[in-house]
Parts: sequence; C-alpha cells; structure tokens
Amino acid sequence: MTSRDGFQWTPEDGLKQGVPSIGVISPPTNVASASQPWDVIVIGGGYSGLTATRDLCVAGLRVLLVEARDRIGGRSWSSNIGNYPFEMGGTWVHWGQPHVWREISRYNMRSEMEPSFDFSRGVNHFQLRTNDGTSIMSHEDEDTLLATALHKFVDVDGSLGRKVIPFAHDAFHVPEARQYDSMSAKDRLDAIALSLTPNERAALESFVLLCSCGTLETTSFFEFLHWWALCGYTYQGCMDSLISYKFKGGQSSFAIRFFSEAKQSGRLSYVFNSPVRSITDEGGKVTLTTRDGRQYIGARLVSTIPLNVLNSISFTPPLDPQRMAAANKGHVNQCVKVHAEISNKDMRSWTGISYPFNKLTYAIGDGTTPAGNTHIVCFGGFHNHMHPEEDVQETKKAVENMAPGNMDIKRLVFHNWSKDEFAKGAWFFSPPGLLSTSLDALRRRHGNIVFANSDWAAGWRSFIDGAIEEGTRAAMTVKEELQPSPAPRLRL
Ligand code: FAD
Repeated sequence: MTSRDGFQWTPEDGLKQGVPSIGVISPPTNVASASQPWDVIVIGGGYSGLTATRDLCVAGLRVLLVEARDRIGGRSWSSNIGNYPFEMGGTWVHWGQPHVWREISRYNMRSEMEPSFDFSRGVNHFQLRTNDGTSIMSHEDEDTLLATALHKFVDVDGSLGRKVIPFAHDAFHVPEARQYDSMSAKDRLDAIALSLTPNERAALESFVLLCSCGTLETTSFFEFLHWWALCGYTYQGCMDSLISYKFKGGQSSFAIRFFSEAKQSGRLSYVFNSPVRSITDEGGKVTLTTRDGRQYIGARLVSTIPLNVLNSISFTPPLDPQRMAAANKGHVNQCVKVHAEISNKDMRSWTGISYPFNKLTYAIGDGTTPAGNTHIVCFGGFHNHMHPEEDVQETKKAVENMAPGNMDIKRLVFHNWSKDEFAKGAWFFSPPGLLSTSLDALRRRHGNIVFANSDWAAGWRSFIDGAIEEGTRAAMTVKEELQPSPAPRLRL
C-alpha cells in the first residue's frame, strides 16, 4: 500500500508524493458505527499510542485507536521501495534502551537487526568539509576528533557530566543540573572556544546540531548533557545508541507487530484518516470529535499527540497554562533527513560532515540497495534549513556537496517533517528553559485524559524507547483505574 506521506525523486519519474509502506492500514477502519462507548480511546498510532493500545487490549479493555494518517508508526516509519526499506523517521535502536529492547524480545526480533556502518571497503574514510577546506581522515581519527571535542564540551564537572547527571532517567536528580537548562549549546561553545581547534569546533558544532537539528542558540545544553548521560558518557556510546543498529525490514516491520497483537485480542477498534479536532471531558465520559464531525466516547482517553501540534486541538476544560505555554513554545528540531541512492558502490564505507556552508551537514553510507547501489543517509537542520521537495535541484546539490564528485544520484527519498501537520518537527529537542519549567506539567494527566509521548519521556526522551516508556505508563495508569487488580498489590 502507498502512504500519502513521503516523497521520492528519480531522474526518470521526477518528484512523486507518497511512498509504499507496510505500515499503511487497509481498510482504514473496522468501526461500523460510532455509537458504542469504548473503555479507552487512544489518539495516535505512533509507538506511544501503539504500546498503550496493545497493553490495554491485552489487559481486556475495549480500545478505539484514532489516527490522523493512513498508517501506523507516527514519526517512525519505513518505506519499501524496490524491496528496500528507506527509513523516513526514527530508525536506530540499541539494547541499552530498555523499553524498546523488551519489545524486540517480546516479538523475537533480535536476529532482525543489522548495523548501518560497514567500514570494510572502497572509500573507507571520513571527509570533513568546512569553510577552511577539506580534511580526509580514517574513521579512527574521526572518532578521536569527535571524542576529544565532545569531552571538552560536556566536561562541566571534571567528570564528563557524571556528577551533574548521575541518573540519566532522573535527569534533575542533582538540583544543579537545572542551571544547564538555561544555557544554550552556543553559550557552552563560547565558554570553551579557546580550547578547540578549528576542526574540533566544526565537527563538534555539526554533531550537536545533528542531535538537536535546531540552531546552537536554541539547543538546550542540559538536554545535550542528558543525551550524553543516556549514552554512557562516551562518544562511542553515542554512536552505538544513536546511529548504529536498525531493523533489516525497517521500522514499520516492528510497529506492525504491536498493531497486529492488539488486533488479535479482538478488542481493538480503529479509525485511520481521522484527524481529531476537539476533546471534551465531562467527568463521567470523554468525547472526541474528528475534523469531519464524527464523535466517539470513552471512559478514559490517552492522547499521544506530539508537543508541537498539541495546540491544534481544542480541549474542554482547557489545558492548564503551563502545558499550553510549553506547547506554544514547542521543541526546536526541524531535521531534514534525505536518503540518496547513488551509483558509486565504493561509498558504502564513507562518512562525512559538510559544515556550516551546506544545507545537509552529516551523512553516512547506510546500506546497499537491491540494485547494488550505495544508500547514503544525510541530515540537515534548522540552522541551514530547506524543504527538500520545494527545490529538488537544491536538494541534489546539498547531497552532492557532501562528497563532490562521488554522488551520482539515482534516487532521493525523504519526508518533510517540518511541514507535516501532525508532527511539525522531528524528534523532540528542547530549547533552553523548557524542560526545567515544564517537564512535570507535560507528564501530568488532565481529568480523564492521560498524556503520553516520547517528547516528555523521563528516560530516552526523543527516542522510540521514550515513546514505548510513555505508552506503557499511560496504559498502566488507565488499567489500574478501569480494571483494579483483584489480588493485593505489593507496594514498593
Ligand atoms: P508520534 O510518533 O509523533 O505519534 C503521534 C501520533 O499522533 C502520530 O501518528 C500522529 O499522526 C498522530 N496525531 C497527531 N495529531 C493528530 C490528530 N490531530 N488527530 C489524530 N492523530 C494525530 N528515535 C529513535 O529512537 N531512533 C532514531 O534513529 C530516530 N531518528 C529519528 C529521525 C527522524 C527524522 C524523526 C522524525 C524522528 C526520529 N526519532 C528517532 C524519534 C522517534 O521517531 C520519535 O521519538 C517517536 O517515534 C515518537 O513516538 P510517539 O508515539 O511518542 O509520537
């Protein structure tokens, strides 16, 4: 099936909107009439919503899943083009991510993982292009450059951040950590500027911007420290956790397991292509109204609507001012992720940074397509933003600028997350001040409405793991209320 989401460009066919994905659900609904009240309505079929839906169905509750798109997966989904999964959003997972790995074990998918990197052949080096010129170095030297620069960046406590954030899943455990949320990445760079070589500075800035996809001024230094702590306080940990291991069959091959298990329970109703307009909590019941006027009623509602689009829904009673202020401020990630299939087979082992002059900044060889071409994945962000479908020539040029002379483009594949009306951005990355003021408010319930999204997870916030953490939390909350356990519970 073909989703409305995503774009593909080839020299033969030009630009086409919509790409095939195994995450598309057809037929889009199994609900004949909206009259029955459900135990729980879940808004959103991303990993938060899929986890909550599955857990609640398995627990014996009747669930209605309402999704605006024609597919599951939300910000994590894969296209299947020529039998090859190009990842349109969330991609990489790691066994150090506890919630995601539990699900990989549950669905027996351990052997369905593969590494992105293959440093074994051809153009087997790192290329750093800056305003000062081009440096070619080995991948070992690439690691040393980035690790050295990152150590200078994070070492605010003489312990590479360990004293400031000793518990990554309780990041404000040490009260002093809050001060770093009022600092931007730019503030921290200015503080260490004299200690950085020009190459260290360029590589460090592009790595930080790869994480936030905002600008250096809009990137919370605290949130970067939080990522660093999650990754075990090492550059190697960052590479392993953030960009190394993916599903051979693509993210949608994982997401579909959650949906299928929920469906098999016989308690799942679903409506896709159904953007929600408003939610009314009348105490005894919650009524959801879609943009086309359909109404659905549940005893509880789990909203997994992302932060950057939360203010597009009307709530009665209204959301508290702190949550609304956070939603209006939003997160800063406007990642541009572009896949390029190129004819140069030798580029599989290449990595590169082109910064700050280029619209795409960081790229790696990510696979070999069935045609034997190299798959390169490239990232850009808000600091030098573009909408890839608006000017394909500009997009091609940005890819070519990553490694001039080596990018003979056969295909481009991408999704525009900035213009996506159900996300308005990519993975969560906090601006300065948002988390220390609003994280607790974002995690709070609102009457019979429970909020779950990776955007305000406690641990791997911004990641698939955080979405599953949040879906699990929401399902537990609702389950305990609607289906109190008959056995006495051990309270720890
Ligand atoms: P979402 O996936 O956003 O789900 C929310 C759902 O709500 C969506 O399906 C949306 O359509 C729906 N919705 C929104 N508005 C409405 C409405 N009005 N009515 C009905 N439904 C609505 N994470 C990783 O772990 N590893 C990675 O490598 C990685 N890379 C990423 C790369 C990109 C380009 C992007 C965009 C994200 C990446 N992430 C990555 C982050 C990860 O994808 C997200 O954190 C995670 O998927 C969020 O899941 P969620 O369910 O919390 O939210």
